[in-house]
Amino acid sequence: MKFSELTNTYGAFDNFVTVREAKEIGLIPARYVDADFPEDGIFPDKCVCGSENIITRDLKRAACCNPRCKVKLGFALSELFSRFGTKGIGDQTCIKMINGVYSRLRYKSHIEVLALRYEDYPQSLYGTVAGQTMFHTCSRIRTQQMTFSGMISMLGLPELSTSTGVMFRGINNASQLIERIKECGGVASFCSRRGIYDSEKLFWLYNSLTDILLAEKIFSNLRKEGIRRIKICITGMVCVDGVHLTRTAFLNYCNSIARYDNGVQILEIENTSAKESCAYVVADYPSNSSKYLAGKARGVLITADDFVNKIKGVITQCMESEKKGYTAETVAMMNSF
Ligand SMILES: [Zn+2]
Repeated sequence: MKFSELTNTYGAFDNFVTVREAKEIGLIPARYVDADFPEDGIFPDKCVCGSENIITRDLKRAACCNPRCKVKLGFALSELFSRFGTKGIGDQTCIKMINGVYSRLRYKSHIEVLALRYEDYPQSLYGTVAGQTMFHTCSRIRTQQMTFSGMISMLGLPELSTSTGVMFRGINNASQLIERIKECGGVASFCSRRGIYDSEKLFWLYNSLTDILLAEKIFSNLRKEGIRRIKICITGMVCVDGVHLTRTAFLNYCNSIARYDNGVQILEIENTSAKESCAYVVADYPSNSSKYLAGKARGVLITADDFVNKIKGVITQCMESEKKGYTAETVAMMNSF
């Protein structure tokens, strides 16, 4: 793919030129260019996928111009696995996977790998430990429960790993997302209403809609966002009922009990590093961490077990009051958290 073929939506690549051009106009100093092989060297003209490489005018960032580049997909897949806390599947294994199946990927998306049957794995991975690990990991993460925006933040999509909470707040599925974008008149105004103006984020949201749609079909356990958002700051190790949990596992557990029996999610427990504004600082042990000290000073320290009990208490009270039809009281109870 040539850089000129890339639809530069939102001006995301205004600051880029091709590496070849950068050499021609002297942006890349001649001493970095091998006189015998000007196309290669430290700054090769082309990516291994065959597309043109591009570079910012300040030479700080270089990339392949193809948004669906094999190498990029390999790294995205690797990022996805690491976000799900998987060990033992590195960049090289992921690149091997993408190289092996690229021609069969209908949408040229790394998300498609999550749904591959084991018999469709490439020869280079089929029957290997790495291949088996990847297959089992894919089965495991497909059923993990999460919200729509939580899912997007885990996919390893460029520019969409942070601030997805803000970008997709209140949106529970892909059709709602598409609807909202249409209502706003496009991705740019959808984002600007949410305070997001970064042209690269806009570009990648637009270009990742296919991946998001695919992911929604593959992840079978998406849940709605809770009605009331509770931000907590976790510091140190946390244990529930004497069992040590990772932060992600603790949050998942909290959210799994923060709902009614009929599945309606009441509270949305989120982790934050904003220790001065969070509702609680969850800590099982005293420490000198800045989070612990801030929690202590603000009087919002709570142990993991107490926090879990608090959720259970509020949910039970809400359920009882709702059964009696006390809607206003239910809302007040939720807000009292
Ligand atoms: Zn490439």
